[in-house]
Amino acid sequence: MTSAYVGRFAPSPTGLLHAGSLVAALASWLDARANHGRWLVRIEDIDGPRNVAGAAEGILEQLAACGLVADESPLRQSARTALYEAALARLQASGLAYACGCSRRDLELAVAPEAGRARHAELVYPGTCRGGLNGKAERSFRLRTDLVRPGAPGDPVVWTDRRLGPRSEDVATSVGDFVLRRADGVWAYQLAVVVDDADQGVSDIVRGEDLAGNTARQILLQHALRLPTPRYLHTPLVLAASGEKLSKQTGARPLELSRPLDALRAAGGVLGLPAEGTTLAEWLAAGVAAWRERWPLA
Ligand SMILES: [Zn+2]
Repeated sequence: MTSAYVGRFAPSPTGLLHAGSLVAALASWLDARANHGRWLVRIEDIDGPRNVAGAAEGILEQLAACGLVADESPLRQSARTALYEAALARLQASGLAYACGCSRRDLELAVAPEAGRARHAELVYPGTCRGGLNGKAERSFRLRTDLVRPGAPGDPVVWTDRRLGPRSEDVATSVGDFVLRRADGVWAYQLAVVVDDADQGVSDIVRGEDLAGNTARQILLQHALRLPTPRYLHTPLVLAASGEKLSKQTGARPLELSRPLDALRAAGGVLGLPAEGTTLAEWLAAGVAAWRERWPLA
């Protein structure tokens, strides 16, 4: 027997759920129910300026209309900054985090003076401030990716996604020492997610494939903080007509929930589930059984 299953859905309250975000919500709920686990909802509202008033409440109403109700009252990250503060302090005390005084302009100059670099490409931080701020003012905090080693020295982070299969990423060369707290004081998504998942005992992360690229950084942070690594399953994305991921930016409209069963059927279709069931409860029960067959835990 594995340890207790705890899953979660963690929306940012930047708008209401649309057809794409319902897929991730439904998948995490189905996986929790299929494994007789608990299902939590966490509102990821640390990036204050991006929050939309009323969106968190609206999302919870949308979930409830679909029969997806959390087993505990939802947590809000904005109320949990003391935990992130403590995690950063632990990393600093063990020499794994440091203050960085580089501005975006400093980074651009340090990283890629050569011509032809894509204008909005991710900058790989070259570790400029590892040895100290050199008179610059403290702006952000970063992780020493060169010192955190989940495997043998020099090995990349390796893990197996339940849907995407074996994955591997050398974070030190793909993104470098990534930010834990931003220059504007906002906690980085990576740190908050890792701290909260561990604090809530989350055993299984089921989320959209657009977030798969964060996994290696989060696993590295789990190692740095000596926290367990959950299992991961990244769900297919719903694409907009343009071929891009469906999002508010690509024209996704909030879910119309006068007919929640239709919304669930559409989300289930993306996940390869059959459309059986004429009521919400029937469809969800059939969905759990179909999910269990399709995505068994190893
Ligand atoms: Zn720096």
